[in-house]
Amino acid sequence: MKKIRYAFVVASLYWSVAQPASTAFVNVNVIPMTSEIVIESQTVIVSNGTIDSIGDVADTAVPGDAIIVDGTDRYLMPGLAEMHGHVPGRSSGNLDRVLTLYVANGVTTVRGMLGQPSHLLLRQDIQENNILGPRLVTSGPSFNGRSVTSPEQAARMVAEQHAAGYDFLKIHPGLTLVEFNAIAAKANELGIRFAGHVPEDVGVQRALDAGIATIDHLDGYMQALLPPHEDPSGGLSGFFGVFIADQTDLTKIPAMARATAAAGVWNVPTESLFEHVTLQAPSPDEMARRPEMKYMPAETVAQWRGGKRNILDDDNYVATTAERAVAIRHRLIAELVRAGAGLLLGSDSPQIFNVPGFALHRELEYLVNAGLTPYEALRSGTVNAAKFLETENRFGTIQRGLAADFILLDANPLEDIANSTRIFGVMVRGRWLPRAELDGMLQRLER
Ligand SMILES: [Zn+2]
Repeated sequence: MKKIRYAFVVASLYWSVAQPASTAFVNVNVIPMTSEIVIESQTVIVSNGTIDSIGDVADTAVPGDAIIVDGTDRYLMPGLAEMHGHVPGRSSGNLDRVLTLYVANGVTTVRGMLGQPSHLLLRQDIQENNILGPRLVTSGPSFNGRSVTSPEQAARMVAEQHAAGYDFLKIHPGLTLVEFNAIAAKANELGIRFAGHVPEDVGVQRALDAGIATIDHLDGYMQALLPPHEDPSGGLSGFFGVFIADQTDLTKIPAMARATAAAGVWNVPTESLFEHVTLQAPSPDEMARRPEMKYMPAETVAQWRGGKRNILDDDNYVATTAERAVAIRHRLIAELVRAGAGLLLGSDSPQIFNVPGFALHRELEYLVNAGLTPYEALRSGTVNAAKFLETENRFGTIQRGLAADFILLDANPLEDIANSTRIFGVMVRGRWLPRAELDGMLQRLER
């Protein structure tokens, strides 16, 4: 019997090999994310990928064959959801890197924002544990100014993607108002959600009215804050309106936040994308030296450096206006949350200087900089994500019967959000990955 179990350990690289019957986190502080509480001295027992029981350490029996993880002075929180990620195709050489980086950072769910047919099979392979990775929720291929040629063709594309089984539709810039409305009407008729950018011809208010599911990057909000006589057209507003920040009317923010909440539309700010790209400091060279960059190919980091350099070198770029744009976005984020509008955690990795997983922890920090409490920031990547995905009874909190997706931390993230990076181990749908194993996975990716 012992021999057989040893064979399982050796073969544990292969997800499909049977896992031990159960895992017990003993004497751990549980952060269930159902409310802002820490439940001390708990034992959490996981079997078959599911939370089997949670109880006081004193009166919770641990099965004899369970793997035991000492939770003393540690904090168990739900795995994080990257709600704006880009996942390579199933046969891409980069897929393993991206999935590994997510898992090593405790990301257990990813909403893929640029889908392709191979993602449908990838979603299934992950779900069936043939591939180790965060569960995938995927859009279909992009609706944009190039892929859409008429309202009729757009509606056909909606029906095709719905029939193919994609989870939602991805909206990009360049759509005309009639095309956008045709997509919205067909999507609402079929019951598939559409999400992403707000095309300039549409604007935030009409996107809210049409029932967009998420607005990503706070796209369109900067334009919506312009006084009525200002015309944002002409392509001079820059990266998510960074160049027009000085012309905005901030008294409009509370009403916009209320309108967003009333429409039930969620926001995925991707502050890490905006701040990494538009702020003068840290410089492109400093960004390229951040520790997590060693996990990305050198040519990718060089491209990122060039991308940021291009923005900073633009004739319309003014460093103080970019800083003002960030301050406006922070106010928007805080007001959206105060107004009761849904907020979701997303970093737009792997795009400019956003290394999968690592960038999501930076995003948590940026949300706290924007004025959220650590608990509010963590909600955006746990319970809120599950609520948005309508999967609250499957994952997103720590409760009996839910998927065993955990991050085990050496310190309390509710006290200091930076503690979310002090990862002692990760559990992905019941598979326990202690620090040594995560380090091994990461070392394999290093240049
Ligand atoms: Zn994106």
